[in-house]
Amino acid sequence: MSTETIALEQAGAALAAESARFARLGWMLGTSGNLSMTLRRDPLRLAVTASGLDKGELTAADVVVVDAAGTAVPDQPNPAQRPSAEAGLHARIAATAGAGAVVHVHMLSAVLAAQRWPGGVVLRDLEMLKGLGRRDDDVVTVPVVPNSQDMVVLGDAFEQVFDPATPAVIVARHGLYVWGRDLVQARHRTECLQWLFQFALSAGGTEEDMA
Ligand SMILES: [Zn+2]
Repeated sequence: MSTETIALEQAGAALAAESARFARLGWMLGTSGNLSMTLRRDPLRLAVTASGLDKGELTAADVVVVDAAGTAVPDQPNPAQRPSAEAGLHARIAATAGAGAVVHVHMLSAVLAAQRWPGGVVLRDLEMLKGLGRRDDDVVTVPVVPNSQDMVVLGDAFEQVFDPATPAVIVARHGLYVWGRDLVQARHRTECLQWLFQFALSAGGTEEDMA
């Protein structure tokens, strides 16, 4: 087996394990959501979870290699698998943010927060912000972009609001993208964001609302 095939198998196993964890948390309902890992930078290659499968039951083979456009590359080790259309945004995020892993989940609290604050979800004075690599007294705005079925439109919208200090973006009425240097960091950030969004929604608003 080639080194690349072994690397893909390892990525597939890691993606399957993390997907099962997200599914248990209720953030990958139905077959929704997808995870990716950056395999190579130049040219960009991502391992992304295969489309249309139960995310609680993926195996190490349920993974597809995509290019910078999110398109499956030829000569896949698992040629029957299809990448999600959303792989295109994973690739844009990996390229723009230099991420080693990207998490996409249809987390309800993120979508509700974006519905309430469509100009961006402002978070401040919360210890949990440290989980995003920020100070507890930072003002962190998680940007919101409109949903689109066109990954180029979505990718352009992401690049316009991208802030290197904030590793997340909400797609309105759709879900959340979070990234990190690896899958574990991306998951930790996703978990912290869930807490932060729930706090913002439950506390009745951000300081901007109350001013
Ligand atoms: Zn989605």
